[in-house]
Amino acid sequence: MADRDYYEILGVSRDASEGELKKAYRRLAMKYHPDRNPDDADASDKFKEAKEAYEILNDPQKRAAYDQFGHAGVNNQPGGGGFGGADINDIFGDVFGDIFGGGRSRGGGPRVYRGDDLQYNLDITLEEAVAGVTTEISLPSSVACDACDGSGSKRGTNPSSCPTCHGAGQVRMQQGFFSVQQTCPSCRGKGKVITDPCPKCRGHGRSNKEKKLSVKIPPGVDTGDKIRLSGEGEVGENGGPAGDLYVAIGVKDHELFTRDNADLQCTVPINFATATVGGELEVPTLDGRVKLKIPAGTQSEKVFRLRGKGVKPVRGGAVGDLMCKVRVETPVNLNKEQRELLMAFHETISGPNAQKHSPQAHSWLGGVKKFFDEMRS
Ligand SMILES: [Zn+2]
Ligand SMILES: [Zn+2]
Repeated sequence: MADRDYYEILGVSRDASEGELKKAYRRLAMKYHPDRNPDDADASDKFKEAKEAYEILNDPQKRAAYDQFGHAGVNNQPGGGGFGGADINDIFGDVFGDIFGGGRSRGGGPRVYRGDDLQYNLDITLEEAVAGVTTEISLPSSVACDACDGSGSKRGTNPSSCPTCHGAGQVRMQQGFFSVQQTCPSCRGKGKVITDPCPKCRGHGRSNKEKKLSVKIPPGVDTGDKIRLSGEGEVGENGGPAGDLYVAIGVKDHELFTRDNADLQCTVPINFATATVGGELEVPTLDGRVKLKIPAGTQSEKVFRLRGKGVKPVRGGAVGDLMCKVRVETPVNLNKEQRELLMAFHETISGPNAQKHSPQAHSWLGGVKKFFDEMRS
């Protein structure tokens, strides 16, 4: 499926309300529903596309991730896709259930629980954050125990029906005039109890295993951004859907650059002769060295802006700039001859020439004199 914009697919604006989304999706689902378009591959694709768009935009978290990162933010499962094979009953339950006052029911079986969301903190370099990177992460995950295939029962044995709820997973409790249905406390909704637990997992049905995932980091991310891997969180209970995994980005400190949103900053030491008579410097950028012209009479802490040498923000917008701050370095370790040359030079720029060659110092000294004169009078 091509990465068409989800809002465009549904034909709604980017600030469409929940109701508008639902209405737009319903219209498309009716139009392209496979039952109405038998053997029409194009309609089937359109149907799946609309379903995918609606599923993302109808989920506030997914919608936020999509708004922030585009398709990269919501479609990160390794192997790609993850939306193939639209389950038609499922969406009609979702979209029309509340309209017809139904809601989804799984036929009185055990209650299902969605797995927890997890967060993984991923540190990347500034270069990776700027250019984007696909990286592999490994994290502990619980998988079905291989000794019992996840059943929790010792191989060759079967769990028995829960004696409390007789396998229903739910029990009825009398509360005053009302009869209330509750999850069975003995089997916690499973309907079955394990009489002969698997020795390997002690009846849990799960074991821990390292899971490797490929994460696509879009270019321009910054510390604090999160990338969502749908369905890679904790597994659900009783066949419930898995939670999501959030990969939280942390950008490591860089030796040369600091980042301020789309701009990069660096400090470049220059010697005072270059600062005085001007010259050319080679300064680093993330895509190689560039020449920076230093005009004569450049003061320390002067910032030069290199346009377009910053970061292209992940949320869109213009590429930032590189702000190069020059810092004039006072010469150290002078020998006798150098010292004499400098003192001779100093003679030429002080006294009556100070106003011309050191205007800042001159006017500052003037201010100091005025301050003390006024204090005395
Ligand atoms: Zn087991
Ligand atoms: Zn029970």
